[in-house]
Amino acid sequence: MSAVTSLVEARDVVLSFGSTPALRGAELSVAQGEIVAVTGPSGSGKSTLLHCLAGILVPDEGEIHYDGRRIDALRETERSALRRDRFGFVFQFGQLVPELTAEENVALPLLLARGRRSTALREARAWFERLGLAGLEGRRSGELSGGQAQRVALARALVAGPRVLFADEPTGALDSLTGEQVMDLLVGSAREQGTTVVLVTHEPRVAAFADREVIVRDGRVTPLSVGRAAS
Ligand code: ADP
Ligand code: MG
Repeated sequence: MSAVTSLVEARDVVLSFGSTPALRGAELSVAQGEIVAVTGPSGSGKSTLLHCLAGILVPDEGEIHYDGRRIDALRETERSALRRDRFGFVFQFGQLVPELTAEENVALPLLLARGRRSTALREARAWFERLGLAGLEGRRSGELSGGQAQRVALARALVAGPRVLFADEPTGALDSLTGEQVMDLLVGSAREQGTTVVLVTHEPRVAAFADREVIVRDGRVTPLSVGRAAS
């Protein structure tokens, strides 16, 4: 088997919150362009693993690599620049800024990175058409349905053209049909842009959108087949 170069990788990652172990030697390697679903029981360490891969949390032990660089050893300022320039995030509850309009929310990463308001808003608006949100540009998050808010959050995560999209239960707050529509858009956009995706979900129907599924149990990662054989 030929070696596949990974874009994002966790190597033997250990992380505890106080005396609570969350990751106990987690290993995951995601190739450029791959869409990987991370599943597993509640409390098994999925979110913690995602946050480590995305450089939001720094492991106690082990290494996180992105594009051939070890990012857990970077200074926080460098890691946050990397997050801003290369990564996008979607969470279970979109976490839109309620004071801003939908288009301002989408433009936010561009404003933070480059600061040109007119360009940022123009680029943001293009995503409304693309994700079936046309007409909702001026709404605030309280005036959007759950599915609309998640699509706005998806647009915000993709607007800066991230190389990696990290999503933590992006459909968790949605009914299954709306969840599938959001996943269709997420996977469709990712494939179109060649974006690598690491997706946390406990829903098999959502995991089925991925190229590959891994299971986290007790802070360790196992391939799906191993997980199935063991249960
Ligand atoms: P999952 O996303 O699979 O539900 P998490 O990664 O959120 O699991 O949590 C893994 C373990 O770490 C759980 O025991 C959880 O209670 C604990 N944990 C997660 N975040 C924190 C935190 N900020 N403070 C304390 N414990 C936490
Ligand atoms: Mg979680």
